[in-house]
Amino acid sequence: MVASTKKLGPAGRYGARYGSLARKQVATVERVQRAKHACNQCGAHAVRRVGTGIWRCRKCGDEFAGGAYVPQTGAGRGAQKALRGINDKLVRGAAEAAEETGA
Ligand SMILES: [Zn+2]
Repeated sequence: MVASTKKLGPAGRYGARYGSLARKQVATVERVQRAKHACNQCGAHAVRRVGTGIWRCRKCGDEFAGGAYVPQTGAGRGAQKALRGINDKLVRGAAEAAEETGA
């Protein structure tokens, strides 16, 4: 374990290199990336990052794709919303087609 640094936390490993802003930005991302997050399946605060974009709940074992450094991103939420809209349309279309054929 490296000596703890107050301000830079996980970016302390870079010493004096790369400039203070870059190190602060890395530290901000890495703190979130390594934190435990809430699980959408069981609600436990046990979701951890497995690899880039891969997250797993240590409580219920649920594994899902998310953001590279956070479990859910704004872009991901937008995509999910769009997919839900398409799915609803498909379900409605299938129901109407069934009505037309009298099935
Ligand atoms: Zn869970």
